[in-house]
Amino acid sequence: MARYTGPQCRLCRAEGSKLFLKGERCFSDHCSVTKKRPAPGKGLRSRQGKRSDYGLQLREKQKMKRIYCMLEKQFKITFQKAARMPGRTGDSFISLLEKRLDNVIYRLRFAASRKQARQLVSHGHILVNGKRVNIPSYQLKIGDKVELGEKAKKLLFVKESMKEYTRSGVAPWLEVNPDELVGYFRAIPRRNDVADLADIKEQLVVEFYSK
Ligand code: SF4
Repeated sequence: MARYTGPQCRLCRAEGSKLFLKGERCFSDHCSVTKKRPAPGKGLRSRQGKRSDYGLQLREKQKMKRIYCMLEKQFKITFQKAARMPGRTGDSFISLLEKRLDNVIYRLRFAASRKQARQLVSHGHILVNGKRVNIPSYQLKIGDKVELGEKAKKLLFVKESMKEYTRSGVAPWLEVNPDELVGYFRAIPRRNDVADLADIKEQLVVEFYSK
């Protein structure tokens, strides 16, 4: 399956906002968006015209898709599932995205980015309630136990990533035992708790797919 393999920062520059694609490094002074580097192909003097409603919706959808490191087909299927659920579609969509196994591995600080988390899952390093699961889109339920396999516990990047747990802990809907490298999915996250979506207007994404 085709997947973007170019520089991550280029995607953020294209959107003109931080998409947090490199984990903790995104909080450093080296972030291209913080440094206000222009979008690819745009000089410092170039001006951006006014975007149409469709253009705004499209950009918002692209940003959100990139944050969760997903391809269009899978992202759209997830949206369609959310649209069939009761309640606000935007909230359901975010909850489906947050319950993905690769996302939870990233949020538990077992990996520095969602891309790295997806690799851990697809290479068979993750156990859910004691059973190996290698499907990144696997949906977790409240109370599920997620742990790293023995080989993965020794990986250097996992140890590096867990330093972020020591610095900042984990999201309030998760719980981690850092010594055992075991995590628990405790609750469905509330919209306002999802920090990296603070600037995302999911209603525009709903409008984009509802046409
Ligand atoms: Fe690069 Fe992260 Fe900044 Fe995006 S948010 S430009 S990935 S450092």
